[in-house]
Amino acid sequence: MPGESSLEATCRDCGRSLSFHAHETQPARCAECFDGFMQARDIEFLSSYAELGVTSRRILAETCLRALVTESPPVRKVLAMNIMEQYVHAAGDMIGLVHALRQRGREPVMRALLGFKLDRASALSFFQEIATTTESDLLASLGLPTPGQIAARLPSLSKSDARDLKLAMIQMLGDFKRTGEMGESVALALAQATGENRSGAALTKQSTWLDNTGLKPNQIAAIAIDEQRRTINITAISVDEKRLVNVVSVIGAMTHISSTLIYATLTVEQERGRARRSQARGTS
Ligand SMILES: [Zn+2]
Repeated sequence: MPGESSLEATCRDCGRSLSFHAHETQPARCAECFDGFMQARDIEFLSSYAELGVTSRRILAETCLRALVTESPPVRKVLAMNIMEQYVHAAGDMIGLVHALRQRGREPVMRALLGFKLDRASALSFFQEIATTTESDLLASLGLPTPGQIAARLPSLSKSDARDLKLAMIQMLGDFKRTGEMGESVALALAQATGENRSGAALTKQSTWLDNTGLKPNQIAAIAIDEQRRTINITAISVDEKRLVNVVSVIGAMTHISSTLIYATLTVEQERGRARRSQARGTS
């Protein structure tokens, strides 16, 4: 704002003076120190996120699925919608984690993960990539060994730790495949529900008021506004129980992918730390 007086503050980490405007919040740190502050906590953040954050989508979806069995039809639809929302969130968490792990070293993991916004383009390109990339290229892009490379790349792991990691990673690669094979309508719903206008995205039980076709009794629809084409996109999603069981199991697969990615990353990091320490001992 022109003419507005600027105020002075000091970075609490490096002591550099920072100026800010009266209408702004006083900064605690300079931008570089803030990145450094977060980056120094990449590993702690990942390990604490793995303890609880990763599982929240699966827990909610499973709870809805259990309740669904005993509820009346209108409530069942609400629970079904909630399961679909958890699916979208779990996909966003998993794809955001993959993005954050790839950005590691360039951007704090915390910012890359929490600031990640899943949109139509990133969702579709992710699922396409999963379908076309080889397992070893996929893992290499995340800084991880393939299951077959674990013993050689992580020599200080005990035999049983190496075996556990190997099994978890083999299962994770299978989960990646299952996630990618999820019905196309769901991938589409995901893309639309998380489209550019996220606040306008909604799930509904009827669509006759929009498209004159309406929905079958076991369907709900995702509505998204396409401002560019000036149309409303409606994607019908079947919410029969069998299908929802499948959706919840894919949410479980995505949760497992996220926790295994973190488990593997932390193990690789631990190995690196050990190697650094033994090298330091050797040279001193
Ligand atoms: Zn600073």
